[in-house]
Amino acid sequence: MKLILLGVPGSGKGTQGRLLAEHFRATHISSGELLRAHLTDLTGSGTGVGEYVRAGELVPDEVVLSLLHEPVMAALERGGYILDGFPRTLAQAELATEHALGLGATPDAVAYLEIPDATVRRRLLGRSAEGRLDDSDAAVIERRLQIFHEATQPLLGYYSDRGLLVTVDASGTPEEVEARTLAALKARL
Ligand code: AMP
Repeated sequence: MKLILLGVPGSGKGTQGRLLAEHFRATHISSGELLRAHLTDLTGSGTGVGEYVRAGELVPDEVVLSLLHEPVMAALERGGYILDGFPRTLAQAELATEHALGLGATPDAVAYLEIPDATVRRRLLGRSAEGRLDDSDAAVIERRLQIFHEATQPLLGYYSDRGLLVTVDASGTPEEVEARTLAALKARL
């Protein structure tokens, strides 16, 4: 399975990524988790990346692409990928489409986890107890929601035009959302 998950921060992409990876015996790859791990590594190339993440701004494409390359290649050897957090802009989607063509990495489907902003505002502030700085500041949460609506939402049209998009109601428990996602994918694949 090669699946891209789209949704506002707090829509459950991480949770669904883990559940669906288990279901499909694929690898869950989260660009945000890779970036956070990269930051704690404190390697030279991480310089400056933390400022973007803490402010809720997008990290430059070349940083994200270079971090994702190896995990995606490894996942292709082992049952595919469930990609969470990438792509986030049309430019990233176009780069991803281009790279994927030669590698046999084109997604089978793109699942949009649809949920009202008001619900995720509550979820994200609740999640801040887990220690993510970008979840504990209301202004940063607003900025991440704004970036989703401005930069990421156009991807719905991009993938719908390519016949890849399924939309899933992402309210309810993780198990309910997983069941809806599997049903939507089954109807489509
Ligand atoms: P996430 O865990 O997906 O909410 O991502 C946390 C943060 O990592 C985002 O607010 C961005 O600062 C950065 N990030 C994650 N994925 C990307 C991406 N595809 N492009 C640019 N920045 C990203």
